[in-house]
Amino acid sequence: MRKKIALCWFRQDLRLSDNLALLNASKAQNILPLYILDTVNSGRDFLGSASKIWLHHSLNSLNQSLDGKLWIKQGDPFEIIKKLLQAYSIEAVYWGRCYEPWRRDRDEKIKAYLIDQNIEVRSFNNSLLWEPWTVKKHDGSHYKVFTPFFRKGCLNHLPPREPLAKPSTLRIFFNENDSQEIDDLKLLPSAAWGKKVKEFWKIGEDEAQILFKNFLRSGINNFKEGRNFPSNQNVSRLSPYLRFGQVSPNQLWYGALKLGEDKNIDHFCSELGWREFSYSQLYHNPSLSTKNLQVKFDSFPWDCSSEKLVAWQKGLTGIPMVDAGMRELWETGYMHNRSRMIVGSFLVKNLLIDWREGERWFWDTLCDADLANNSAGWQWIAGCGADAAPYFRIFNPVTQGEKFDPDGNYVRRFIPEIAKLPNKFLFNPWEAPKEILQEARVFLGKNYPNPIVDLKLSRERALGAFKSLQ
Ligand SMILES: Cc1cc2nc3c(=O)[nH]c(=O)nc-3n(C[C@H](O)[C@H](O)[C@H](O)COP(=O)(O)OP(=O)(O)OC[C@H]3O[C@@H](n4cnc5c(N)ncnc54)[C@H](O)[C@@H]3O)c2cc1C
Repeated sequence: MRKKIALCWFRQDLRLSDNLALLNASKAQNILPLYILDTVNSGRDFLGSASKIWLHHSLNSLNQSLDGKLWIKQGDPFEIIKKLLQAYSIEAVYWGRCYEPWRRDRDEKIKAYLIDQNIEVRSFNNSLLWEPWTVKKHDGSHYKVFTPFFRKGCLNHLPPREPLAKPSTLRIFFNENDSQEIDDLKLLPSAAWGKKVKEFWKIGEDEAQILFKNFLRSGINNFKEGRNFPSNQNVSRLSPYLRFGQVSPNQLWYGALKLGEDKNIDHFCSELGWREFSYSQLYHNPSLSTKNLQVKFDSFPWDCSSEKLVAWQKGLTGIPMVDAGMRELWETGYMHNRSRMIVGSFLVKNLLIDWREGERWFWDTLCDADLANNSAGWQWIAGCGADAAPYFRIFNPVTQGEKFDPDGNYVRRFIPEIAKLPNKFLFNPWEAPKEILQEARVFLGKNYPNPIVDLKLSRERALGAFKSLQ
């Protein structure tokens, strides 16, 4: 007699704990745990390089937790699932819901097919505290401003579901002749870059829990203030784990609330709220990553300088606080939120380069690259998004450095060639007297660039460009 099987399709929930799809599948006689690298449906939103590295190691970790019995496939999930149904007696298919437009379209088609075939199909909320369609104003429309979205829409809503334990038993059905190897997916780049990024992280579900526990022990205690300082250990750095679902937002929400209530815990929960807000924006605006939410920006006079774009990407703009952020990204596959705002503002406002160029570079190089958070973050910084920073708010990278990197630890860590400058000129070396530059062995234009734009003039140019839209 053929075994009765529930297929659990892992997607952006690469964990065993607090996984509703897995928990439900574990009740069946046998479970077929599957990961599919979708190489057909994602279009421009196929995984970026850093995400591929993260995914490779995440799959290895998940596979280990499943005793080496994770099925690996690549191609079109529709065709792959169809074939699996023909080959095995699969009675049910379960997955955690995804919210990217291309995934929603694909899943709808697969769901319709399974229903047509009389296969039980169920999807679950494995990734969000509140699903986008559940947070509505009284008139049924969705929120466009964060504070009412979070305070009125989310917090006045039902509380998020409490996190669940791992299934107590998993009877896994595995056919090694019908599964690819993780290495076959060729997710690792040949360049040394992949190694460097990997060395910075410990990737996996258990590692996410360890990182979170450490954060709860110390970092969260001064989260509200300390989160602004890139060299402080006050942020959780859990974003890539959240992106790939090695930890759930529910685990973070309730884990933080267990500590009690204070301004730091409150603030941490509201950051999770920003993530929900991004997902809500993406859900209601499927072209969030490509189209200005405020249409008046459609005629914005962007500058198409590829030279300046490359200098920004490489962390060679000659503006230390910008370069430190861009190099943090290149060295680690992560960038602190303060730096994301500084480098974003500099790209879009001082360089007048289209925010979509920044969005694509982040997409390729961030381990936490997330269509909702990344697109919403870029639209926010560019001033064209929902509840965005006004366009005329232009971050001054010099004063930002003086305020948020007062000891210069962040800049010195990522730009060693100017590390010997005194704090007074660390964020603006072009203003340093010759003797000071000489003493610090900084040779502008030789071992560190002159600024590629004048901060004051470029600021005025940006304000002028913005005025032209009114
Ligand atoms: C231009 C730009 C691009 C961004 N791109 C991404 C991206 O691709 N992926 C991504 O996860 N975040 C993105 N963010 C948001 C934010 O910078 C990161 O979520 C945060 O820096 C991750 O670090 P952390 O885990 O230490 O955050 P913590 O401060 O510890 O916060 C905990 C969690 O809350 C969420 N969160 C925190 N800040 C924000 C925010 N401003 N918006 C939405 N969610 C937030 C994240 O899931 C984060 O992991 C972007 C922000 C900007 C300005």
